[in-house]
Amino acid sequence: MDEPILKSIADTFEGPVYVYNGDQIQKQYNRLKNAFSGVENLQIKYACKALSNISILGLMNSMGSGLDTVSIEEVQIGIKAGFDPKKIIFTPNGVSMEEIERVASLGVQINIDNLSVLEQFGSKHPEIPVCIRINPHVMAGGNSNISVGHIDSKFGISIHQIPHIIRIVENTKMRINGVHMHTGSDILDIEVFLHAAEILFDTAMKFENLDFIDFGSGFKVPYTDNDIETNIEELGEKLTQRFNDFCKNYGEKINLAFEPGKFLVSEAGYFLTRVNSIKQTTSTVFAQVNSGFNHLIRPMLYGSHHQIKNISNPKGKERFYTVVGYICETDTFGSNRKIAEINEGDILMFKNAGAYCFTMSSNYNSRLRPAEVLWHKNKAHTIRNQETLDDILSNQILIDFSQKVEVS
Ligand SMILES: *Cc1c(COP(=O)(O)O)cnc(C)c1O
Repeated sequence: MDEPILKSIADTFEGPVYVYNGDQIQKQYNRLKNAFSGVENLQIKYACKALSNISILGLMNSMGSGLDTVSIEEVQIGIKAGFDPKKIIFTPNGVSMEEIERVASLGVQINIDNLSVLEQFGSKHPEIPVCIRINPHVMAGGNSNISVGHIDSKFGISIHQIPHIIRIVENTKMRINGVHMHTGSDILDIEVFLHAAEILFDTAMKFENLDFIDFGSGFKVPYTDNDIETNIEELGEKLTQRFNDFCKNYGEKINLAFEPGKFLVSEAGYFLTRVNSIKQTTSTVFAQVNSGFNHLIRPMLYGSHHQIKNISNPKGKERFYTVVGYICETDTFGSNRKIAEINEGDILMFKNAGAYCFTMSSNYNSRLRPAEVLWHKNKAHTIRNQETLDDILSNQILIDFSQKVEVS
């Protein structure tokens, strides 16, 4: 997005603001679709935990996307945004049976990743087909927090437990209509992905009557100008061929599904916040912004890199700054970054702020969460107002401390 537009949006808000470029989201969606144009039945299910604002979900729905959800609340927001429940998949981990049953009753596709849950659900509801999440035990992903396919992972049913699954299916007469994997974020090596895919194809052959195979996500996006990213086009070419061969062997043209989160929204997002103060210490120049890890926690939680630009003085001479927040704990957004000269009051722009940024924000330090804006059809639409103190207090209860306590 053009920096002057971002600057003018930032100027209309008192506090920090998240801006999402709808055109960029559409572009990524089309890119994935085109990469798999050789697949007859492709389903893209947006993983909405990345960015769950109801207008973002509405935009995804209007593009033809489905939805990948991990909580009943995400399912409910998706339905409110207009999604047909049939286009929603629920992939929980460690939730109650009651929650799974409530989601199933809405007509949403259930994805089960635990043998005990599979057995209980199949015994009670043999008429509801379910997908199974497999752990192929392939190590992929950029970081142990986001890599979920390894041997000790809490996610998925191990491929070594397929015989158990088959026994449960036979005993309960339930139907498995999909097989699924999601090995984690930041896949760079396409061969590793294809290797995991082979394991999923082998698994799929063991189940008749499948409607789909779901390869999850984990596509890496670039965080800097020369950063590496998952080569979607190459993956599309190789996996399409392999999938179409699989369908021939399987004897049916089933659906191929993906659940991208980060890929669709990461680069579309910008976090804009004002510089409160410049603090020169003996060794470092700190730029302290009007925000902290209450609004953007990924740099502190995952060590993720967000490019930072000064959009108030884009032509200024570059200097080194350590950008920090106002939280009373260490909250470094970036150390020793080369940024165009910063003056107090300037707006800094953080890139890759679309995925896992607003959705991980909190009210720590009793700070208000920021507004969100969607740039759509050349217009800025506020899609979330900045919080007010009333929002923070709305569920808090001040009890009466004035009564004397009787001491017996
Ligand atoms: C988080 C998640 C995704 C999306 O992962 P990204 O790395 O954001 O693309 C997809 N599927 C499942 C089951 C997930 O939990």
